[in-house]
Amino acid sequence: MSHYSAKFQCFSGCDGSYPVTTAIYRCPKCGGLLEVKHDMAALKDRSAAAWMRLFDERYMRTSWPYGSGVWGKREWVMPMVTDDAIVSTGEGGTNLFWAERLGKQVDVPDLWIKQCGNAHTGSFKDLGMTVLVSVVRHGMLRGELNPRAIACASTGDTSAALAAYGAAAGLPVVVLLPRGKVSTAQLVQPLAHGAKVLQLETDFDGCMEIIQKLAAEGLVYLANSMNPLRIEGQKTVAIEMVQQFDWEVPDWVVIPSGNLGNASALHAGFEMMRELGVIQRLPRLLVAQAANADPMYQAYVAGNEIVAPIVAKQSHASAIQIGNPVSAPRAMRALKAMNGVVEEATEQELADACARADRTGLYTCPHTGVALACVFKLREKGVIQKSDRVLVVSTANGLKFTEFKRGYHEKAFPELDSRLRNEPVVLPANVDAVKAALA
Ligand SMILES: *Cc1c(COP(=O)(O)O)cnc(C)c1O
Ligand SMILES: [Zn+2]
Repeated sequence: MSHYSAKFQCFSGCDGSYPVTTAIYRCPKCGGLLEVKHDMAALKDRSAAAWMRLFDERYMRTSWPYGSGVWGKREWVMPMVTDDAIVSTGEGGTNLFWAERLGKQVDVPDLWIKQCGNAHTGSFKDLGMTVLVSVVRHGMLRGELNPRAIACASTGDTSAALAAYGAAAGLPVVVLLPRGKVSTAQLVQPLAHGAKVLQLETDFDGCMEIIQKLAAEGLVYLANSMNPLRIEGQKTVAIEMVQQFDWEVPDWVVIPSGNLGNASALHAGFEMMRELGVIQRLPRLLVAQAANADPMYQAYVAGNEIVAPIVAKQSHASAIQIGNPVSAPRAMRALKAMNGVVEEATEQELADACARADRTGLYTCPHTGVALACVFKLREKGVIQKSDRVLVVSTANGLKFTEFKRGYHEKAFPELDSRLRNEPVVLPANVDAVKAALA
């Protein structure tokens, strides 16, 4: 396949490039972030129509690895990786849910939810992890990489994905988790896959600081989204959602954000489609943050280019409880390019949004609740118009967050008003008692 190619480059524009199988996570010259650059001239050897046709022919079919929503677009993602290196669980291909009832209630009739949580490990993290682990295996097969272990700091979903892909590839995995700050399901996933699970008495930002030191010393290969390989897989969400609308661009794309890797991944996907002529305009980006962990929102409101780190407070949206987002510079660029807006949601607002959405047939994780609450607010403010097509990226499966949902419906969180709660009724096994309860 491959006269197509991609390499690492400095995000801030230092010259020099590095093979994607190099174990580096920052620019060797300035210490800034890295990004993957594709040979765009080579990709222009096909017309936009030809790319769309190729992607449509492969989409959700059985010919391995093209049935994966990521590897079906492999020329745009990581063209050099050979078949024998690919570690795939059949990523992507997640459905778009038309939130018809919810949309009517909030006066956004064209509201759609991209169900990225309907994935092998229950979150969008699979999309990036298949690329990262495949590149590692590609490098190992060629003697270019020899990591002792692949490792990440995680708010729960990254570690679940890394552990699964590592196990599928037979590679050792180490995960650093903030103790007591991930859900039971998220803790059990890496345990089940045989990863070394280290629970630290800190928050995500504390774990991230330590993992970066381990990676800098070459003790582990870093799998956090600071590693731009993750972004290449995650950007396929943008491509896939446009494909699912017959290559039409929505007006808004909404993403609940913590470390801000995914916001920049969406931009990368849309920008690549624009450059290759598949689309003519970019949608507007809505970065949705939890008010308890809102460094990007604070920078946005203050008109600052730089996102200053904060100490994140406890949030039910635990996967985005991050105060020092590593990908902030990337996300700032995405925000500018996509005429973006940052909004935030309180704990009460996110819980209400989840409960409301669930009543209309969704089953939303708290992060998707943050995104929905921000959509409701921007519609009320008139920033989102009634006629706009709004696409919310649901980042994880609600089934991972049983403690949150149960606590809401049993009114176990004193700080939350569980006004949409629905408690089970306990009865004796007696027809009359059941009849009475139904009356
Ligand atoms: C990782 C994650 C996010 C945040 O993504 P970032 O790229 O860190 O901004 C949001 N929601 C869920 C469920 C996640 O797992
Ligand atoms: Zn640099």
